[in-house]
Amino acid sequence: MGVFWVQESFTRSALWIHVAGCPRFNEGHVSNIIHGARWHGPFHDRDDAYELAAYVKRQGALSGPHSCPICRP
Ligand SMILES: [Zn+2]
Repeated sequence: MGVFWVQESFTRSALWIHVAGCPRFNEGHVSNIIHGARWHGPFHDRDDAYELAAYVKRQGALSGPHSCPICRP
């Protein structure tokens, strides 16, 4: 349960799945410009978040989606 977000990091070329409230999620929204990440969401279903991540991945050569080691979505 919870609310899920997909972090699309341009600098690291990776996709990460987070739960809203994760420290990285909170930092990301504050420092989006610095880190150049794009956030997709919110998703109320975990599978929807992974489905979107898989879709984004097909658009480019990103790695992931990875489950965030901090919030463990
Ligand atoms: Zn997280």
